[in-house]
Amino acid sequence: MKLRFLLPVVALLSAVVVTPAAAAEADPVQAADACYTWNRTLSEGASGEDVRQLQIRVAGYPGYGAVLGIDGQFGPATKAAVTRFQQAYGLGADGIAGSATFTKIYALQDNDCTPINFTYDELNNCNSTWAGGNVSAATARANALVSMWKLQAMRHAMGDRPIDVNGGFRSVSCNNAVGGAAGSRHLYGDAVDLGAGPQGFCALAKQARNHGFNEILGPGYTGHNDHVHVAHKSSRFWSAPSCGI
Ligand SMILES: [Zn+2]
Repeated sequence: MKLRFLLPVVALLSAVVVTPAAAAEADPVQAADACYTWNRTLSEGASGEDVRQLQIRVAGYPGYGAVLGIDGQFGPATKAAVTRFQQAYGLGADGIAGSATFTKIYALQDNDCTPINFTYDELNNCNSTWAGGNVSAATARANALVSMWKLQAMRHAMGDRPIDVNGGFRSVSCNNAVGGAAGSRHLYGDAVDLGAGPQGFCALAKQARNHGFNEILGPGYTGHNDHVHVAHKSSRFWSAPSCGI
């Protein structure tokens, strides 16, 4: 978010020698971000940690029923996800991540790398730490971050209205205490339970199909008449019979 403070200076300096429009086209991005700063334009064929960081941010744009791999390899699926992200925010949609794309990402993220409308705390209301699940605390937290970026994409697609988060990660003891299923994705950190919010359960369950959630459970599925559960899973399992899913 530091970028906001730099923009007036950049605009002032660039006005002397070039037009503001030309300045906006400049690559690569020069501005820093407290979370992560990309230092080069990324396009198909690129690989590395900067690609992996980009994939986390566009994980909510894989297309219907798809899940974007977070592997640091910029392939066709990453290009398609970047294109959808660009389209969602009215940017030039070429599937190449340059200054305009990174500037939008900087504006959408907090200094802890979470998207501006979601927090680690609200995805962890059952534990004080991220330990004690089926994966390491670091992995659980990283999985939660990806789910938050998926939710940010879903929130934007549904008109930028707040999405009601009831919880996420659970340790084994916490999962047992709340009667969670053995092997629940909550033990891995990527599951999120959603309240009805202004959207309603069925609208949330249906929309989630477009944003990289391989597991969607909602009304009509055992134990899910009062929330919608979205998560990552190795194979697709969607069930919300009362919503026609
Ligand atoms: Zn759940």
